[in-house]
Amino acid sequence: MRVLGIETTCDETAAAVVALNPMGGAEILSNEIMSQIAEHAAYGGVVPELAARAHVEVIDRLVERAMAKAGVAFADLDGIAAAAGPGLIGGVIVGLTTGKALALATGKPFLAINHLEAHALTARLTDGIEFPYLLLLVSGGHTQLIAVEGVGRYRRLGTTIDDALGEAFDKVAKMMGFPYPGGPYVEKAALTGDPKRFALPRPMMGRPTADFSLSGLKTAVRLQVEKLKIERGGELKAHDVADLCASFQTAVIDTIIDRIKVALRLFYAECGMPNAVVVAGGVAANKAIARALTSFTAELGLPLIVPPGHLCTDNGAMIAWAGIEKLRLGQSDPMDFAPRARWPLDAAAEPVHHGKA
Ligand code: AMP
Ligand code: MG
Repeated sequence: MRVLGIETTCDETAAAVVALNPMGGAEILSNEIMSQIAEHAAYGGVVPELAARAHVEVIDRLVERAMAKAGVAFADLDGIAAAAGPGLIGGVIVGLTTGKALALATGKPFLAINHLEAHALTARLTDGIEFPYLLLLVSGGHTQLIAVEGVGRYRRLGTTIDDALGEAFDKVAKMMGFPYPGGPYVEKAALTGDPKRFALPRPMMGRPTADFSLSGLKTAVRLQVEKLKIERGGELKAHDVADLCASFQTAVIDTIIDRIKVALRLFYAECGMPNAVVVAGGVAANKAIARALTSFTAELGLPLIVPPGHLCTDNGAMIAWAGIEKLRLGQSDPMDFAPRARWPLDAAAEPVHHGKA
């Protein structure tokens, strides 16, 4: 079984071909990506109109390249998958329309993929993990703890009531004067910092629900920055930046572990022990977080799965794989499937305060 996957929900244009062999193993035949980071950097964040235009400009070539690198013709495909949301609607329309057009022209089944579902299923592509498992999805737009019970079966155990974790990293990075997206710079600066110098809050610690809140922590960092700037008569010193980043990252790690503990309790009550804890999304690239989670889950006797960085951030392979997961269950989607800006994995979950699924 071979499926082409197309991803255009944010600032990455991506196309990939993934194959499922008869033994059930998966193989990524190609995984092409073009990042628009440079185009948005000057604005300190993703500009939706620029993103949509950039997707239009490269999508055709990228699909061609993914097909050529995989060494397959359209006739060899079993399906064509495209992310249909959630995301920036202009970009979503570009990828979704491309996928539909290719499916129509080739007569292949079409699969409209939930981008979050693709993140949720990636650990099955990389590690062949069985359901059920606990997913920590931490990206620029989402911070959620999800019980993954099967294809199409997701239960949200917790979510952020304000900022996403990646967003908090980016905002803290901006305060330190780092470029966008700043998460990796915060991690690097934290390496040489003193995590105990600043007593920052650990929001939601000890609460019985598995939700996150990050804006208070971000504000506490901002207040420290302002205070230090006054003390220093203007600019922060390099060691201030390092200590702030280390203190922030440690507060984040403590919060994540506390929230996962609650989520595991909720998970256990509903569906027994999970087979693993899986981390996905851009923030999963953070080695300090992964290290802390590895020792925490090891104590519980649970494996921690963090797919490699290029499969944790937005990519086409995860869309193709989600397509395979649906296709092998006999599912496909109609041509009038509409793009969705918002598309929660768990439709039954209550919307949260700020409306981020
Ligand atoms: P995504 O939305 O999944 O593409 O993830 C992008 C987000 O991940 C951005 O907010 C980045 O700042 C964040 N990110 C990437 N690498 C790291 C890292 N090493 N540490 C913390 N955050 C990171
Ligand atoms: Mg993503």
